Amino acid sequence: MQPVVDLELPRIRRGPVLLAGGASTLVRPHAAAGATKALQDALCLEEEMSRAQTLAEAMSSYEARRRERGNPLVKLGRRMGRDQVEDAPCGAG
Ligand SMILES: Cc1cc2nc3c(=O)[nH]c(=O)nc-3n(C[C@H](O)[C@H](O)[C@H](O)COP(=O)(O)OP(=O)(O)OC[C@H]3O[C@@H](n4cnc5c(N)ncnc54)[C@H](O)[C@@H]3O)c2cc1C
Repeated sequence: MQPVVDLELPRIRRGPVLLAGGASTLVRPHAAAGATKALQDALCLEEEMSRAQTLAEAMSSYEARRRERGNPLVKLGRRMGRDQVEDAPCGAG
């Protein structure tokens, strides 16, 4: 039995530390979106590092863009988990 967990985060940056992929917002498996999200995090960071004038600016933009995407995905996974597993219609599971 493997416990299924998810995690929303209010912040994905503190000082010089950035979180990305599975270390950042953690999505339940129902959405099958974790790998895509990890790739998008990496691409966003690359984009911001190329565009920004300073490292601090790049990190701030990365956090603003990716936090806004990660947390709604966590909510989607929860909703799918509830509908497909926890409160699945009788006979659906
Ligand atoms: C069974 C299963 C099925 C999944 N199916 C899907 C799916 O169908 N579709 C989908 O989109 N996602 C799926 N996922 C989720 C997906 O695998 C993750 O969201 C994705 O791998 C996250 O990528 P990541 O690079 O952030 O982290 P990871 O892939 O977890 O990579 C982290 C790496 O860091 C290494 N590491 C850890 N600690 C240290 C350390 N201290 N020093 C050095 N290295 C370290 C680890 O060994 C690992 O190689 C699945 C996950 C599981 C477990």
